[in-house]
Amino acid sequence: MENDGEKTKMRKAVFLDRDGTINVDRGYLYRIEDFTYIDGAAEALRMLAGLGYLLVVVTNQSGIARGYYTEEDFHRLNRWMLRDLADKGIPVAKTYFCPHHPMGKVEGYRMECGCRKPGTGMFWQAQREWGIDMERSFAVGDRLRDLSVCRECGVQGILLGGEGLSRREEKLRTEKAFQEEWMSPERKVFQEEGMSLEEEKLQEGERNREREMFREAEGFVRPLWTAGNLLGAAWKIRDSVRVSHPVQG
Ligand SMILES: [Mg+2]
Ligand SMILES: [Zn+2]
Repeated sequence: MENDGEKTKMRKAVFLDRDGTINVDRGYLYRIEDFTYIDGAAEALRMLAGLGYLLVVVTNQSGIARGYYTEEDFHRLNRWMLRDLADKGIPVAKTYFCPHHPMGKVEGYRMECGCRKPGTGMFWQAQREWGIDMERSFAVGDRLRDLSVCRECGVQGILLGGEGLSRREEKLRTEKAFQEEWMSPERKVFQEEGMSLEEEKLQEGERNREREMFREAEGFVRPLWTAGNLLGAAWKIRDSVRVSHPVQG
């Protein structure tokens, strides 16, 4: 029999996107020397750990399926990041990653899966492995798909914007900017890199789904919050805890 005492001791967690949330999103990042923390990220993580939150990283890594880097490359960077955070006094419980993509070039990784965000497979796997109380937990990311789990349960979502985001990500934030982005020289670079028409369509489809999700954010079990960056999100989380559990005076 399992220990009943342990079972009832559910933990609260913060589900963290990696690229564009913890570190600057350089697009298909896998080299340690290209990894830069977003300002305040380490301070935010330390604050959240201090508030008793389990820190769980949940990251899409389609670069593996696309053949831009290998799973071992991912693990090397991830090991380095976890060790570096540990050196800073910040414990991360685990990094969950999805190496798949339906249009991937690498055999074995090319698939529709339930873990690639906005799929919620990784969140629920973490929930099971760590006994996470979703009602007291938060998801933080720079894309709405990082918050997809908030449609299924009481996890509260905080969408990051503004500081710390790459220009390209910022431009994707409005309808008008979306159109401009689609016509930009950056897109030509993608074409020159050999992105097939099918793959472009798929990416466009993904973005359309994401825009749809913005419209549907009221479908979240609880209201969506926004913050400038991870530090802003950490303050929000700290203050929300204070509001729901006021100090008795
Ligand atoms: Mg991101
Ligand atoms: Zn996957």
